[in-house]
Amino acid sequence: MSDINLYKMIPKVDELLENELIKNLEDKVARKTIVDSIRLATESIRASINGGKEHEEIKEMIRELGETVVRLASKKSSFKLRPVINATGVVIHTNLGRSPVNPEILDHLREVAKGYSNLEYDLEMGSRGSRYSHLEEVVAEITGAESAMVVNNNAAAVLLVLSTLASGKEVIVSRGELIEIGGAFRVPDVMAQSGAKLIEVGTTNKTHKRDYEASISEDTGAIMKVHTSNYRIMGFTSAVEASELKDVSKKNNIPLIEDLGSGVLVDLSRYGITYEPTVMDSLKNGVDVVTFSGDKLLGGPQAGIIVGRKKFIDQMKKNPLTRAFRVDKFTISALEATFRYYLDEDTVVSKIPTLKMLTYSREILQEKGERLMGMLSREDLQKRVGLTLQDDYSEVGGGSLPMEKLPTKCVVIELEEGSTARFEELLRTNTIPVIARIYRDKVYLDVRTIDDSEMEIVSKAVRRAIDGLEECKK
Ligand SMILES: *Cc1c(COP(=O)(O)O)cnc(C)c1O
Repeated sequence: MSDINLYKMIPKVDELLENELIKNLEDKVARKTIVDSIRLATESIRASINGGKEHEEIKEMIRELGETVVRLASKKSSFKLRPVINATGVVIHTNLGRSPVNPEILDHLREVAKGYSNLEYDLEMGSRGSRYSHLEEVVAEITGAESAMVVNNNAAAVLLVLSTLASGKEVIVSRGELIEIGGAFRVPDVMAQSGAKLIEVGTTNKTHKRDYEASISEDTGAIMKVHTSNYRIMGFTSAVEASELKDVSKKNNIPLIEDLGSGVLVDLSRYGITYEPTVMDSLKNGVDVVTFSGDKLLGGPQAGIIVGRKKFIDQMKKNPLTRAFRVDKFTISALEATFRYYLDEDTVVSKIPTLKMLTYSREILQEKGERLMGMLSREDLQKRVGLTLQDDYSEVGGGSLPMEKLPTKCVVIELEEGSTARFEELLRTNTIPVIARIYRDKVYLDVRTIDDSEMEIVSKAVRRAIDGLEECKK
């Protein structure tokens, strides 16, 4: 057969639109996407003829056109931001969206979002209200703070606090607390952006109360503490506690502010995790304004929460930056629901997925591991790759508790032949991607961050990856 006849065998767009497989797409996919996919698929066949590909292969491509178009169109029309399965064991994984939220919250969110709401409307007065009012009561009840407000994230919260209280003035910070958080949040840079002047005191490992006292001047706008959430200084060290700094700030009538980072609201040491200072500790120690993230250890949506003295927070509400950093009804609704879980100390850890994953008992992790192993064995996969359940460690992540090693269970996959990197890629390109960890040429699936409802998908994805590797070999 000549090339000319091969070109003629390629069906026309109109003919393909009548193809049974392609017709089925019409309910789900925009017509333009279907037509674009048809063009892409037929052009690729023409290019193959041009390139001198075997005629038998070309004919096969033409026979499979329907499937090819369906695949291209489905790929083109699928959401770009979509769920993945976190098998890395890093609980607060910033690249994977930090804290998952309890689906119960979403019912409420749905009700609020699908219609109008009293976002900025005072139902008692019948007049304009404040979007921050919805959170004030619940935050006050949990933390004891006089007042609260919420902005886009903690970086914005810190910038707003500094800009409101210390623009054009000096802010005293210990050299041991001049941190960088991933993604270009650096205390000195945020300080410069706010218009405040950074006054560094002490040394990297030791800062004393007298260092702060010696730096106070009439230009001082605030004393700031930063929780070194993502690193620790060990050995010959000393830092000045907020409770001691309170004397200095009070005597000089200067606000004491603290960037807590994670903003934990429960004492994690009750669950065998290293004690992390809580928001309540900060306030009790006399800090005037505390900032923390909504989606780290709090376990809610992305947000920056500011709590503390009403007179300072009222000033912040009037700062024009507040408008630029403001949160929408989705965030407020999810945050209010998240905070409400904290009203019941006994159930909060089971209700907030981040806390639940961090506090799983060894028995639960063992049981989760055995369940996943069981599913993989049922598919007879242990005959095709090495499969073992091993002890390992998970991480808290999100720049929180960097030294914490949480004992966990991992399903470890060892290939007899084939590329481990390719295997990991096949898991990652699954319809619902499975994000795994490679260590010493083995694939680790940490069961801590795999929800029970996701086990079946993980097991199928592993089978697909094994099939995929064997397909390559053929
Ligand atoms: C994480 C963190 C931030 C940044 O918070 P985002 O919510 O990511 O903006 C700032 N300061 C500290 C101490 C942190 O740990």
